[in-house]
Amino acid sequence: MTTHTKLLDGCGRAIEYLRLSVTDRCDLRCTYCIPPGFRDFVTPSHWLTFDEIEQVVGLLARAGLKKVRLTGGEPLTRPGLGDLARRLRQIPGIADLSLSTNGTRLAELAGTLRQAGIARINVSLDTLDAGRFMKITGRDALANVLNGLETARDTGFSLVKINMVVMGGVNDDEVDAMVEYCAERGFILRLIETMPLGVAGSSVQHVNLQPVKQRLQSRYGLIDGAVPGGGPAKYLVSPDGHLNVGFITPLSQHFCASCNRIRLSADGKLYTCLDGLASMDVGALIRSGASEMELMSALTDALLSKPVRHDFGMSHSRENRVMAAIGG
Ligand code: SAM
Repeated sequence: MTTHTKLLDGCGRAIEYLRLSVTDRCDLRCTYCIPPGFRDFVTPSHWLTFDEIEQVVGLLARAGLKKVRLTGGEPLTRPGLGDLARRLRQIPGIADLSLSTNGTRLAELAGTLRQAGIARINVSLDTLDAGRFMKITGRDALANVLNGLETARDTGFSLVKINMVVMGGVNDDEVDAMVEYCAERGFILRLIETMPLGVAGSSVQHVNLQPVKQRLQSRYGLIDGAVPGGGPAKYLVSPDGHLNVGFITPLSQHFCASCNRIRLSADGKLYTCLDGLASMDVGALIRSGASEMELMSALTDALLSKPVRHDFGMSHSRENRVMAAIGG
């Protein structure tokens, strides 16, 4: 089947970017992501199989999808991720395949993932202090992550970005140390504002990054810059290019007008907005034997419900929502 459908949402935004969650499970328990004692994970038999994922991505790619990011949960806990990456990289139209990981297993898997065609990776790292790492994530694994980062750089990923969620009273005093750690090693730091998603996301103290941005700008003499695959981040760079800091500010300066992304959860639900309650069950549709035409039509219909913007902190309850389940 060939289709010339454009992936447009109801506001005319072209959807080119899929965040693909391959598992909702994670080997860390970050306080702002998974609520304490959370057990409500999807049974692995309900995860989309690699064949099903390839089918959905192939269909979307024929309609204009260009970029896929593997995420989760922790994607490196899904067995065979390298095989999936290789299959997705071969889909015509998918020009960019990237990965978000917590880095705990990166040292063992970096080579396999690079060979499979993943060029860019984002590693979540909120602190350089082992005790704090333990408090934030529930696991004594900072050394594994730092080792994974070095291995990734030596394996030849074109870009390694570090995502740091900045939390009041937890790690907001470590921003400068992280800027310098990244500059010394050639990593690109992105500072992220917490999103009040579910009990966990609302449990930490939100930090408005605008003042942090101004302070770093004057301290290091930074100017506006850009980074490949930068997505919604706004970057500041030093004139010699040595320092590079991105700011992802969903609350203090949202970027919904240019949002080109959708999310597919591990169990096959399509979310058009991280904050949206509505999802479309692509997995159920595939398993009911829907034709490609029916699938495509359901996917394009679902895009029409993409909200104009998120309304975090406003009307509806997100108590039961878990970032790891939606695919952060
Ligand atoms: N396990 C992978 C990782 O650590 O990158 C992928 C999934 S994780 C849910 C994706 C990103 O979402 C991480 O950078 C994490 O810090 C971020 N995240 C999770 N909950 C968040 C929240 N409430 N606000 C802001 N970022 C959050």
